[in-house]
Amino acid sequence: MLPTAAAAAMPWDRRAPEREGPPSAWSLLPEDLAARGCPGRPEHVFARLQRVRTWQPDRLFVAREIRAWLADHTDQSLPAILERHPSYDGSTKLVLGLADGQRIEAVHMPRHEADHRVTYCVSSQVGCALGCTFCATGAMGIVRNLTAGEIVGQVLALMRDLGPRCGESVHLVFMGMGEPLHNLDHVHRAVTVLCHPEGAGLSPWRITVSTAGLVSGIERLARMVPRPQLAVSVNATTDAARSATMPVNRAWNLARLRQALDAWELKRHERFIFEYVLLAGVNDTLEDADRLADWLGDLRHRHNVNLIPMNEHPHSPFRGPGEQRLQAFAARLHQHGCFITVRRSRSRDVQGACGQLVKQREAAVG
Ligand code: SAH
Ligand code: SF4
Repeated sequence: MLPTAAAAAMPWDRRAPEREGPPSAWSLLPEDLAARGCPGRPEHVFARLQRVRTWQPDRLFVAREIRAWLADHTDQSLPAILERHPSYDGSTKLVLGLADGQRIEAVHMPRHEADHRVTYCVSSQVGCALGCTFCATGAMGIVRNLTAGEIVGQVLALMRDLGPRCGESVHLVFMGMGEPLHNLDHVHRAVTVLCHPEGAGLSPWRITVSTAGLVSGIERLARMVPRPQLAVSVNATTDAARSATMPVNRAWNLARLRQALDAWELKRHERFIFEYVLLAGVNDTLEDADRLADWLGDLRHRHNVNLIPMNEHPHSPFRGPGEQRLQAFAARLHQHGCFITVRRSRSRDVQGACGQLVKQREAAVG
């Protein structure tokens, strides 16, 4: 493992922009509204702002005095939905525009008829600093972090546009553009706002933060309240292969990553999610499956492994493994007692891999 100083020298940290003008209304908790002198009952104002199903831009259903205060003291703009790409599998991939013209991607994934769950896959950054060689977002480099207001605004914009329908429970996964643990303060603030019972009322059990293995972030998140669920993108089983495809492994290798997971105390109902993107000829052998099971060790009873065939795109030379390899890999893990889900990327037909639509447009505009 490289010393921590090497990690510190890497271009991880791209702070969210300092906003000029008033703060985003979507990042303020009731206590923040009170501290800033908002008239009326802060919980009530917060609830009106956040409960998007009753919210209309021109009818906030609060007293005129409060509306005027909010207009003067907060920014109530939401990210704009610029493009909708519905997929044959029922999911919709969206491109959203931020106030400074940057673009991010999100995916709306309803389950099938009988299942009353809807999952939103959301972004935490514009681009990403980690540069994984199979990832379209990684090919963009890091542009900037999203603010907490932009993250909450992204979720509210999706809710207003596409549901949830009555009775659906909302699940949130930070598996869109960016490395959420590189933007942990804003991501955690957004999770806190979204889980407030007077607001959107999401549950931290239904929010998953996916990381490429940023150990410093995992160790911080482990102690945070509310604490969302953790997903870790493993994607290789030797340090040589992992460092070649995921530069973050040069700072925190597989052993150090495993150590951080040992220190994360799982609550009774919790499981780790491990993601494993299969790249043909790189990490898809039966020996890889054996090493993966070995690395999981005693976590094998408290996890789910998501096997994801590489979603091919022009910014990466890697290819998917083919059905036979995928099945053989899954079967081998199953023999080792692992719990497996094969996740064929939703909305594959509409450039399902995160960052692909934004990256594609970047290339088109030069
Ligand atoms: N930065 C975080 C979360 C965003 S990426 C992370 O890396 O975990 C979300 C998931 O998409 C990760 O598991 C990543 O390995 C996977 N991914 C990235 N590019 C992909 C591609 N081209 N095909 C399939 N999965 C991909
Ligand atoms: Fe960043 Fe995740 Fe893509 Fe790696 S896979 S470049 S960490 S978004």
